[in-house]
Amino acid sequence: MSARVLVVDDVPANVRLLQALLEAEYFEVHTAMNGAEALDAVQRVKPDIMLLDVMMPDMSGFEVCRRVKSNPLTRYLPIIMITALDQPEDRIKGFQAGADDYLVKPIDEMTLLTRLRTLVRFKFLLDELESSIGDELLLDTRIDNSENEPARVAALLNDDARNAPLCEWLRDQHRLQAFDEPVRLLDAVRNRAVDAVLLEMPLRGHDAMRICSQIRSLEHGRQLPVLVLMDNMEQQNLVQALEICASDYLVQPVMVEELQARLNIQLRRWRYIQRLRANVRQSVTLSMVDPLTGLYNRRYFSTHGRAMVEEAAGRGRALSLMVLDLDFFKKVNDTWGHDVGDEVLREVAARLKKQVRRLDVICRIGGEEFVVLLPGADVRVAEQVAERLRRAIAERPIRVICDGREHLLNMTTSIGLASYERVDDTLESLLKRADEALYRAKQEGRNRVIRQRAA
Ligand code: GH3
Ligand code: MG
Ligand code: MG
Repeated sequence: MSARVLVVDDVPANVRLLQALLEAEYFEVHTAMNGAEALDAVQRVKPDIMLLDVMMPDMSGFEVCRRVKSNPLTRYLPIIMITALDQPEDRIKGFQAGADDYLVKPIDEMTLLTRLRTLVRFKFLLDELESSIGDELLLDTRIDNSENEPARVAALLNDDARNAPLCEWLRDQHRLQAFDEPVRLLDAVRNRAVDAVLLEMPLRGHDAMRICSQIRSLEHGRQLPVLVLMDNMEQQNLVQALEICASDYLVQPVMVEELQARLNIQLRRWRYIQRLRANVRQSVTLSMVDPLTGLYNRRYFSTHGRAMVEEAAGRGRALSLMVLDLDFFKKVNDTWGHDVGDEVLREVAARLKKQVRRLDVICRIGGEEFVVLLPGADVRVAEQVAERLRRAIAERPIRVICDGREHLLNMTTSIGLASYERVDDTLESLLKRADEALYRAKQEGRNRVIRQRAA
């Protein structure tokens, strides 16, 4: 895996050690010797992950972590703290500063590399989602207004006295759903009713590792926080759990403060992914839809239309395309003003939409120009549809309001039609023929449908 790793430690020997380990795994390593250098390198190098020492002379690792995580631009940069401080309180302090993981020296190489890969993979996913939304929306997305909101936590734990305080805390701060049966828990995940899973390993009577991998195979479970409660720190189990499925792990007996801190980190990340996903969907929609009429725009027409032609060609199915252009539309703008013109366009779009099937695609490709794609429609059917569309505009005047008074405008439209008929037909060739037909329709007196055959 190739990723940029920033290693921060004030002891040169420690830096060299980590650098050698990571470079052997083909990571691109950058280094910093103190907090100030680290903060500078975060801006300059734009690392994919940071390995951060805690005890440094100028600024502690906790402080560096806090600063990186409080800046919206770098908040989701994964940070692994690596330190000699091995007390639970130190660990909790690390998580409270926002660290994604906390490893105690001497470092187990396997564990470090596994954590590193998981977190880098997560960072790449974020990068990909982030790259598909605009900068402004991205900044908005990074702001988390749900920080302290209760989450739906599903737990599958051994019936054990030491888990009681954990459950009590979860019930108090979150919405705990305790399960006995793995299938029930999987159902809840399938139904998207879960924000985090707490799973004990080993789990009496069940194969916890399998449950974990089943969660991952569900769509909602793919990035879902799964925190594994480990009975012992057996290295091999831990690495396996982290590789297969666990987002994070805690070692029994678990302190409530640690659960809280780790769960928070996971939830923050999960919620960020959810917000990103929703916004990606929204910006994809926005970039494909014409805001005035709600019809698809030219960009959608080009990408989707091409796919529809290929589909028709591949399956030997019929396909027709028509171009509609309002007649003397300029006169509407000139006489009544641009706003009335817009109103007419909206009404025309609504009437067209009513006349076609769900499979058909209507796009506004220019000012008062529309394209309709009719999959499965041969020439005969397409001519009927075109005629219906022409009538839908012409048979009834369009009601508009100008200076507080109602007016009725008689509008008509000219339509050029072309059908898929040659093996070498493309979206462009169909559009060209339909445009030629439209030109003739205008020449021959407007308010009519003309069809153009292939040469
Ligand atoms: P023809 O019958 O030959 O098509 O005549 P026309 O007047 O419709 O043709 P032309 O293409 O010259 O005029 C189209 C006009 O559409 C010109 C432009 O001002 C107007 N237009 C383009 N986009 C919009 C829009 O979004 N809103 C409004 N109100 N008018 C628009
Ligand atoms: Mg026109
Ligand atoms: Mg025009």
